[in-house]
Amino acid sequence: MSEIAEAPKPLTTPIPGPAADPGLDAWRELPIQQQPDWRGTDEHARAVDELSSLPPLVFAGEVDVLRQRLAEAARGKAFLLQGGDCAETFDGATADKISARVKTILQMAVVLTYGASMPVIKMGRMAGQFAKPRSSNTETRDGVTLPAFRGDIVNGFEFTEESRRHDPSRMVRAYHTAASTLNLIRAFTQGGFADLRLVHQWNQGFSANPAYKQYESLAAEIDRAVRFMDACGADFDALKRTEFFAAHEALLLDYERSLTRTDSRTGLPYDTSGHFLWIGERTRQLDSAHVDFLSRVRNPIGVKLGPTTSGDDALALIDKLDPNREPGRLTFITRMGAKNIRENLPSLVEKVTASGAEVLWVTDPMHGNTVTSANGYKTRRFDDVMDEVRGFFEVHDALGTVAGGLHVEMTGDDVAECLGGADPIREEQFDDLYESLCDPRLNHRQSLEMAFLVSGALAA
Ligand code: PEP
Ligand code: MN
Repeated sequence: MSEIAEAPKPLTTPIPGPAADPGLDAWRELPIQQQPDWRGTDEHARAVDELSSLPPLVFAGEVDVLRQRLAEAARGKAFLLQGGDCAETFDGATADKISARVKTILQMAVVLTYGASMPVIKMGRMAGQFAKPRSSNTETRDGVTLPAFRGDIVNGFEFTEESRRHDPSRMVRAYHTAASTLNLIRAFTQGGFADLRLVHQWNQGFSANPAYKQYESLAAEIDRAVRFMDACGADFDALKRTEFFAAHEALLLDYERSLTRTDSRTGLPYDTSGHFLWIGERTRQLDSAHVDFLSRVRNPIGVKLGPTTSGDDALALIDKLDPNREPGRLTFITRMGAKNIRENLPSLVEKVTASGAEVLWVTDPMHGNTVTSANGYKTRRFDDVMDEVRGFFEVHDALGTVAGGLHVEMTGDDVAECLGGADPIREEQFDDLYESLCDPRLNHRQSLEMAFLVSGALAA
């Protein structure tokens, strides 16, 4: 009976996910920016259905621990280090690249811990940092216009019609890539690789460079301290493992909503795609879908604040995202630009402090300092990046508030994407060593150098 067309396979409800709170879908009626145009297709519904039935990537209990850690950082008793790619890629999720990035974050954290004599909360822009906001919906090359690359979770970087198509099945691939990335991170940080007695080994294979030399002498000091404590009979179990959290920009709400689950202990919704989620500078409008959705999940939330943010904007975001003024709930990640930070940050911090709200202030010294090199690459100057970090510390020192963390785009690899540093990267190196599909990252040496400079500021 071939003339009878097969009935279309019924799709389960388009509103996905086991979390029951109807408010979790209120965002669907609100203005929303930066989403793909795949809604309403069967492909989209299938991807969302599949994601909704997959296990959580992180556990609610871990998210609660992180909230406590961030509360400590807001009070100046810990320091947050967030680092990783601007845009993770599916192809880049290899053991070598993941281990180099984790190792670099661990090295930076050791340097910061030593300088600040306080715990450093380690967090990767990893295992979910696949979606990118873009300033234009399209890209034109040689007279051909195609949809802009929005990150591997939406479309491919290759400049062809097929690759640039918004493909919902990429969300499922993003989930599996995040799962294998997290698996390796957990193995590295729990399985002995992060043991503080191996500080030297994290640096192996690198040549003589000012930051490496400095690291080696610090590692030798740590070694001496560890041997001393060992001789005294100290218990080193705590040094064998380290906590490591996963963070990304919660940009693609189909993905975030589909991975939101009700926690069986508390009955509350957690976005289990990562421990910490942030709202980008382009999607933080008060009445927008992004702010509404994230106001309803229990994860600690960050918001990027650019140079045009007013004190009233900040207060309204606090009211919406942290109405109960819960310690550790809200982090403001300022990205003002080196030119603006000393001028714009004080009034923002003063207004928030005067309101009685306690947020964690973190500096992202990357996104306000992007320039184009003479040979046409998107880049950042290490000096500008450091200048913004210094400005951030100066402002908080002057106000008596807490400079609580650092958010950087970095990699463990030997790339050339940001200019300068002690062993300076020059733009002639970009043609061979520029790998980022999106924003330029600090390479391994520049990341370590930054850690030493920030460590000095924390020790001061
Ligand atoms: C990012 O963190 O890669 C990003 C796009 O940042 P912002 O929202 O601050 O521009
Ligand atoms: Mn970026």
